[in-house]
Amino acid sequence: MAKKAAGGKKSCSFCGRGPDVVGRLIQGSEDVFICNECVDTCNTLLKKDQKTLPVKPLEKTPTPAQIKERLDEYIIGQDKAKKTLAVAVYNHYKRLITAADKDSVELEKSNILLIGPTGSGKTLLARTLARIIDVPFAIADATTLTEAGYVGEDVENVLLALLRNADFNLPRAQQGIIYIDEIDKIARKNANSSITRDVSGEGVQQALLKMLEGTISNIPPQGGRKHPEQQYIQMDTKNILFICGGTFTGIEEITRRRIGKTTIGFDSVRFEKSTESLAEVLCKVEVEDIIDYGMIVEFVGRLPIVAPLMPLTEEDLIKVMTEPKNAIVKQYQKFFKMEDAQLEFTKEALTEISKKSMEKKTGARALRSIFERFMLDAMYHLPSNKETATFLVTPEVVKGETPLIAQKYRKTA
Ligand code: ADP
Repeated sequence: MAKKAAGGKKSCSFCGRGPDVVGRLIQGSEDVFICNECVDTCNTLLKKDQKTLPVKPLEKTPTPAQIKERLDEYIIGQDKAKKTLAVAVYNHYKRLITAADKDSVELEKSNILLIGPTGSGKTLLARTLARIIDVPFAIADATTLTEAGYVGEDVENVLLALLRNADFNLPRAQQGIIYIDEIDKIARKNANSSITRDVSGEGVQQALLKMLEGTISNIPPQGGRKHPEQQYIQMDTKNILFICGGTFTGIEEITRRRIGKTTIGFDSVRFEKSTESLAEVLCKVEVEDIIDYGMIVEFVGRLPIVAPLMPLTEEDLIKVMTEPKNAIVKQYQKFFKMEDAQLEFTKEALTEISKKSMEKKTGARALRSIFERFMLDAMYHLPSNKETATFLVTPEVVKGETPLIAQKYRKTA
């Protein structure tokens, strides 16, 4: 073991080479050394081991109430969606645990469909869930997917992304969560008039359907298109939880019409001309409306859990800016603190930001760019400012009428 080469010279206890041959020798206890090259070899071996490690025991899946509580730390509002998801995700992972018991009733996989406007938190919900459960996560955009043989991305590449994010640990990837965004964009066009059917949209739905149901997929490890000489990784999608999300713009009209039809006479007029808000109508969306919208019956059948997300109100947006653990206001305040400065916002300034964001009609998505615009100059000068300062953001600052400058100076200690 411990080695000193002839003449009392130090050498690696593993490969025996001296410091003149290897780059670096690190000393352990008295006469024990390891060279940089042996450290590298050990690292590679350990990484290989990690990939074949058994999957983390799922018994530790938090309860629906615990999941919801954690979601509340990051996501404002969307109570119904959070509860629905918490139960669905809990059941999904519970199902995996009971699946090991051969005598138990086989529980079917229930993938999830999120319906709600842009920037209402669909992606954030899916991503946060994966973090809470501590499973690998991948996002795909349905509009970039095509059925095999067409120009675009094969649906299998979605699985490859998950495998990559699981650091190529196949068992772990096979229990991950995949979020497929813009799922409504692969709806058949003109679902109601079967004359002009949008075949490609339907084709992608068919291709995704297999993955959603559970199949053994052949994944080209390097990505790209498949070709016959390639080696594939076989990935089982049976235990992967798919969360699909879409805005389904206009679905409220389908729902309103359906509700109108089920009521008669006076009532139907009342419903047709209903002033119910988008939020209220979204809560009433049924599977048949989604099929009417252009999703194929089998596809919707594989997404039995539908959760609506509400458009964020002005007050919601203020909460989004200030309340979550990583809220944008908290992040900027931290930057300022790191530079020995303080950043404050008046209530009216937050309302102004929220109003500006509402105008963009992209939910909470616009917030960051609005902040960046009026914060840029202050962020530019802040590190060169030698004194401790307090900056106050007012509505005028947000509107760009006055620059964000230090309001008062305090003496540095
Ligand atoms: P969607 O997928 O519904 O279009 P995202 O989840 O991508 O929207 O939201 C974009 C960003 O807006 C998120 O990263 C987050 O910062 C913020 N956001 C959106 N909705 C919420 C919410 N309900 N609570 C907190 N932040 C939100």
